Amino acid sequence: MIYPWHEESWTRIAGNRETLHHGVLLTGQSGIGKPEFALALSERLLCQSAGRPSPDSCGQCQSCRLFGSGSHPDFHAITTEQNSAGARYPLLSQYSNRYQDSAERDRKTRHGRVINIDQVRLLIERFSTFSHISGTKVALIHPADRMNMNTANALLKLLEEPPDNSVLILVTSEPGRLPATIRSRCMGQPLAAPGRESALQWLAQFATAESGKTALHLAGGGPIGAKHLIDQGYLEQHEKYLSGIMGMYNHQTGAIDLAEQLAKLDFEIILKWFQRFVVDLVLWRVAGAEPYWSGQVAGNRKQESVEKLCGLYDKITGYRKISREPLNQQLAIEEMVFAFQRSLA
Ligand SMILES: [Zn+2]
Repeated sequence: MIYPWHEESWTRIAGNRETLHHGVLLTGQSGIGKPEFALALSERLLCQSAGRPSPDSCGQCQSCRLFGSGSHPDFHAITTEQNSAGARYPLLSQYSNRYQDSAERDRKTRHGRVINIDQVRLLIERFSTFSHISGTKVALIHPADRMNMNTANALLKLLEEPPDNSVLILVTSEPGRLPATIRSRCMGQPLAAPGRESALQWLAQFATAESGKTALHLAGGGPIGAKHLIDQGYLEQHEKYLSGIMGMYNHQTGAIDLAEQLAKLDFEIILKWFQRFVVDLVLWRVAGAEPYWSGQVAGNRKQESVEKLCGLYDKITGYRKISREPLNQQLAIEEMVFAFQRSLA
C-alpha cells in the first residue's frame, strides 16, 4: 500500500526501477509506513507485466497474486520475532515465518527484538538459488538496524556478490546504527514524512481529534506509528502511565508506587514516553513551550532543576541503548523514578 505522503517517492523509486541498485536502503522517520512501501516495491519488482509503463503492480499476473497471498517463491523477508509474532505486519509475518520456527516462537512469552545470524545465513542460502517465476528475486530486511555486527557482516556477502537479477531492500529509521560497510554498498532512498496537519487529517479516519493528537505526539510524528498505538490500545496504557507520572509531579504519588505502576507496562515504550516527557518538561521550562499534559498540573508549577532533568535524560538514553539486552528492568525503572523525584525537589 502506498500512503498519500509517499506518492512522490513512489514515482521516483518504482518509476525508475530498471535502474534500481541491487542494494536499496529505504530510510525515513519512524512510523511513516516504510515496510508497507518496501512490500509494494517488492511486489512491483516481481510483477510479470514488465512492459507496463505505470509504476504500480498490475495486481493480475501470477506473480502479483502469489505475492498478495504470502506464497511467492521469489520473495524473501526477514524481521524480528517480535514483529512476526505481532499483528502489525500480516504479510511480512507470513513471509518471515519461513525464516523462523513459528511453533517455537509462539511458545515463548517474550519475543526477540533482533534479527539473528541464522536468519541471514538461511537467506543467503535460499537467495542464491534460481528464480522460480518472476525472473527476479527480492529480499526484504526490516528493521535492518536490528542486526548486530556479526549478522550485518554475514549479510555483506550478499551485497558484495549479489546473485543475478536480485534486489535486496533494507528498511530502517536509524541508518546510523548500520555499519558503514553495509551503507556504502546500498543506494540510499529516503522516504518523505507527512507534515503534522496531513498526518492528523489522515488519522481522523480512525480516531477522535484528541486521540489522534496524543497518538501522533507519542509516535514522534509518524501517522502509521500513531495508528498502531490507537489500534493496540496503547492510548489506555499511556493514560495509566501519564496519571502515574503526573501523580509524582503533583507530589501525590511516591517513588516506589510509581515504579511499581510503570513496571507493569512495556519497558521499551516506557523509556520512550518518559524520555519525551523529560524533553517536554525542559522545553516548557527553558522555552515556554506548553506540553500537552499541562492541564493535569495541580497547584502551582514546580521549579524543576533543568540540570537534573538533563542528567535523567542521559540516564534514559543509556537504558534505551541497552534495552534490547537482558537487564533488570525493575531496578532500571526505580533508578529513573528516583532521579525524576530528585529533579522536582
Ligand atoms: Zn503483476
